[in-house]
Amino acid sequence: MSGAKLRVFKHNDLDDLERILKWADSRTPSPKPETRNPKPRTLIVTESVFSMDGDLAPLLDLVALKEKYGAWLMVDEAHATGLFGAGRRGLAEEHGVCDRIEIQMGTLGKAVGAAGGYICGSRALVDWLVNRARSFIFSTAPVPAQAAAARAGIKLIQSAEGADRCVRLWSLVDLLKSELINAGWPPSGAVRSPIVPLIVGEAAAAVSLAGKLRERGFFVPAIRYPTVARGAARLRVTVSADHTAADLAALAAALGNPR
Ligand SMILES: *Cc1c(COP(=O)(O)O)cnc(C)c1O
Repeated sequence: MSGAKLRVFKHNDLDDLERILKWADSRTPSPKPETRNPKPRTLIVTESVFSMDGDLAPLLDLVALKEKYGAWLMVDEAHATGLFGAGRRGLAEEHGVCDRIEIQMGTLGKAVGAAGGYICGSRALVDWLVNRARSFIFSTAPVPAQAAAARAGIKLIQSAEGADRCVRLWSLVDLLKSELINAGWPPSGAVRSPIVPLIVGEAAAAVSLAGKLRERGFFVPAIRYPTVARGAARLRVTVSADHTAADLAALAAALGNPR
């Protein structure tokens, strides 16, 4: 919608990103004093926790690179809000780079437990978006109940109970991973992630496995092309702090041995 030229850098590949930043720089016209905005802006956009593999963006290196080129950085914390950082604000907080990232966004519909989304940035940026972002201005505002639910969710996340639930969630994730390895599934590549992908391969196999799990009372969505690459269809397991160790053991048993 901005009319900007879009270039996609290879997943978490800082060399590829730098190549594109150099290209963007080379397009920058020489500054003329009479023009108000001589230098076009470059905006780098990334997720912090990737939604399909559960891997993490190299945020510290991304921040260093965007500063080297005077670009802006926008980080989607959809899967990190509520789980990373001392205040559970996200991966930017965990890495101590909140005030070096121009645009932090997230959803209120995952850990926060409501619906909608948020953008954190400078007052000028937020005022500009509120007044100029067309899809925002011409949409009906969320109902007060939804805003109240989101506020309650954020309050809970920031409370001592939120801290406890976070610790509990991480220990359940570790437990699930070891249950899966014991059941014969290859270890998930993700180091520390609330998303545990089980790569199945063929789309039909993933869908059929998801169906079998559903019959046994487990809702685990199958993710397939075009959301992920062909041949990399998967089940995406998401653990909640309300699960129990017994739930996870039962899931691993229901999944069975992949071989
Ligand atoms: C879920 C998600 C969102 C936001 O989703 P909504 O359903 O619109 O709240 C944004 N970015 C990523 C990467 C997501 O996974």
